[in-house]
Amino acid sequence: MSRDFSFGVTKLLRDPAIVKQLDMQGQISEIFVTSSWIADNEIINLEGVAESVHEGILVKANISTKWLGECVRCLSPASGDLKVSVIELFEEKAEPEGDTYPFDGDVVDLSEMIKDNLVLELPLVPLCNKDCRGLCQHCGQNLNLASCDCVDKVIDPIWESLSGIEFPEET
Ligand SMILES: [Zn+2]
Ligand SMILES: [Zn+2]
Repeated sequence: MSRDFSFGVTKLLRDPAIVKQLDMQGQISEIFVTSSWIADNEIINLEGVAESVHEGILVKANISTKWLGECVRCLSPASGDLKVSVIELFEEKAEPEGDTYPFDGDVVDLSEMIKDNLVLELPLVPLCNKDCRGLCQHCGQNLNLASCDCVDKVIDPIWESLSGIEFPEET
């Protein structure tokens, strides 16, 4: 992973009164869910603070970037802003499956933490537009671009089954 989101903590660990300002930009690859992702070359921004606490290094930050995806209704490209606020603890001896992140000696690397948080925020049902009209289920026409003639021809299956029945005429 890139070193864009790493910072030294030697001074922080020595002097708990220091609050380190974080203002970082970088790229992290392979952040994706089924229908949306963050491009490998997309810039991820992180602004926040890091401070030394009893257990380790506490990081409070706002992370922002852009997601790309495929609209689940019309299959066109979709995109949007992604923002997440995090408060995460980095411990020198973090449990492998614990809630905190490990750091090694004098350097904290935020990449894994950023990746985890952004994955959780990626849209599972991305839309090109919240009013997207999708594709016609019969002819495949993208209904955002043009309409089709199918709507008039489609008969509700229930009425279709009734259409063959002859009702006795009242006399
Ligand atoms: Zn769409
Ligand atoms: Zn159609």
